[in-house]
Amino acid sequence: MATLGDPKKTIEILNKYHFVFQKKYGQNFLIDTHVLDKIMRAADITKDDLVLEIGPGIGTLTQYLCENAREVVAVEIDRMLIPILKDDTLAAYDNVEIVNEDILKYDIAALVRDRNGGKPIKVVANLPYYITTPIVMSLLERDLPIKSITVMVQKEVAERMQAGPGTKDYGALSLAVQYRADTYIAANVPPNCFMPRPQVGSCVIRLTKKAEPPVTVKSPELMFKLIRAAFNQRRKTLLNAIANFGELDFTKEEILNALQAAGIPENERGEKLGLNEFGRIADALERIFIS
Ligand code: SAM
Repeated sequence: MATLGDPKKTIEILNKYHFVFQKKYGQNFLIDTHVLDKIMRAADITKDDLVLEIGPGIGTLTQYLCENAREVVAVEIDRMLIPILKDDTLAAYDNVEIVNEDILKYDIAALVRDRNGGKPIKVVANLPYYITTPIVMSLLERDLPIKSITVMVQKEVAERMQAGPGTKDYGALSLAVQYRADTYIAANVPPNCFMPRPQVGSCVIRLTKKAEPPVTVKSPELMFKLIRAAFNQRRKTLLNAIANFGELDFTKEEILNALQAAGIPENERGEKLGLNEFGRIADALERIFIS
């Protein structure tokens, strides 16, 4: 078994299996042991932990996870990588399951229930950048039993996660992250730490789930729909953005009444509002919301 983490070993494996990088899957493999060490320090994995890894690639980070965790479940969409992982780079570990699936279709709730007795798991990944936002949103919006999410993301995405109201980076991702988690930037990572090199700078960010959300809202599901509506058409007033949003069915009059009850001016835009305000609007609309 090859121990991965430097460019030479990565190239050896890629050549051995005639592996061709798939751009559509956002494949940029890590080739720097210092970065791998930083991810592991931030993720704080112990022998008690069940870890879900999204996109193991050729298994570089997975090897580190297997050494430190009780059990690792690695979900990889590219079937060409599966024999590399199973027959070679992860063959020596008996605490890893390799699943050939799209993470957006994978049942994480069942994994936590069946394999961890319902106890929260840790998620660790060097994420495929083309679907970072849907992955992080799906992990957070459904309030799954997850203790922490330690991920490599594009630098701009890390900035969006931490942005506040009224800034250009502020959006649905900022609100979803800040509702559920505390953020910590563990490392800045330049393009030369990956093969092939991405066009952008990257960051390792840890999201630690909050014990309690910072605002109490009757229906978080409705609040997140309102947030998505607001940022779907961010140049529109909140009133029009909510009225036009396909997933919601409120009349303009109902929305106006709710904005008034929440103390929000009717011509306000969502990009100016924080979690408190979205929570108040959601509560005012909740009586007439059928999920
Ligand atoms: N973890 C490896 C590393 O650090 O070297 C690879 C990281 S690479 C940035 C992203 C990985 O995610 C690739 O292996 C890619 O095939 C996989 N991937 C892309 N889309 C996926 C999806 N929807 N579900 C699961 N894995 C996916």
